[in-house]
Amino acid sequence: MRRESIPLLDFLKETKGSILILTHENPDGDALGSAMGLYLFLKKQGKDVTVGCKDRVPHFLDFIPHSEEVISIPDGRFYDIGIIVDSAGFYRAGAEVKVAKRIRIDHHVGGEFYGRHDFIDPKAPATASLVYELISAWDESLIDAEIATCIYAGLATDTGFFRYSNTNEYTFELAKKLVSFGADPNYVYRMFAERESVNKMKLIAKVLETLTLYEDGLVAGITIFDRFFKETGTDYTDSEGLVNYPRSIEGVEVAFAMIEKPEEGVWKVSLRSKLNADVSKIAERLGGGGHKYASGCKIKANSYEEALDKLLSEIRKQLELQKILH
Ligand code: 5GP
Ligand code: MN
Repeated sequence: MRRESIPLLDFLKETKGSILILTHENPDGDALGSAMGLYLFLKKQGKDVTVGCKDRVPHFLDFIPHSEEVISIPDGRFYDIGIIVDSAGFYRAGAEVKVAKRIRIDHHVGGEFYGRHDFIDPKAPATASLVYELISAWDESLIDAEIATCIYAGLATDTGFFRYSNTNEYTFELAKKLVSFGADPNYVYRMFAERESVNKMKLIAKVLETLTLYEDGLVAGITIFDRFFKETGTDYTDSEGLVNYPRSIEGVEVAFAMIEKPEEGVWKVSLRSKLNADVSKIAERLGGGGHKYASGCKIKANSYEEALDKLLSEIRKQLELQKILH
């Protein structure tokens, strides 16, 4: 992408302060890949840098180089600079941190803004591509195979391995560069997608039993009750990506997954659309956010039925607004 300048670049070059890089809770490949790529690069530049996350690195992302160095937050330490990646705001970290200055690197629409050092572009295919722009403008010669692998992991996972609508000429140009710096596409795919547990297959079987169609097949949803995790020996991280099953059905325009989180007293909702529906609008009205084709929110309700009703009525409203449903 062509850009005049990146104010964050000069700021980071000059700073001698301590830096905490944060991902959102339940990190995905783009969040962790972006954080670790930036972390490894800043370390090479001699900066005082740490990566923090509320949740443990999930198994499907533990191949990301040096991800074992991620610390658990809140950690009680004070940092001069906090940089949150792939998140609409610091609230997405899911824990309080003590930082003097807040910065956001992200590709979500809207969200919170902290000042001129934010580096936000909703047109970027992944937050990882913004991290690449930043570090390559600084010193491309420092991008080694590990840093390239982190960024490639972010780019590949957020584009559904180069299938989603954020896949374009630029995405492939960047992927090509990252491969030339040492990222291995087959390795990243195998590590991310082909290390599932048998228990996860049992979870999928249960979850698919809940598959329900609404609005004459325009909407499809699945539900992941907390007891499913207990019955199959899986956990929340095993719910990643399951929303792609309802989306894959012919004729479905909006797909959702409702995941029970009893410890927070909420239903975590993942929303996906295929062609026209803008699910970010649905998520925003329910207090969340995201992208046109992939977004999420949390719904607080007294019962499953109440949460489902709230969600379905917002989906219907959006489909009517966009004249997809008459
Ligand atoms: P997922 O469904 O995979 O959790 O998230 C899809 C997209 O929606 C991601 O870009 C994610 O950052 C965003 N998203 C998910 N949950 C929330 C939420 O609770 N609040 C906001 N603002 N965005 C969310
Ligand atoms: Mn992302």
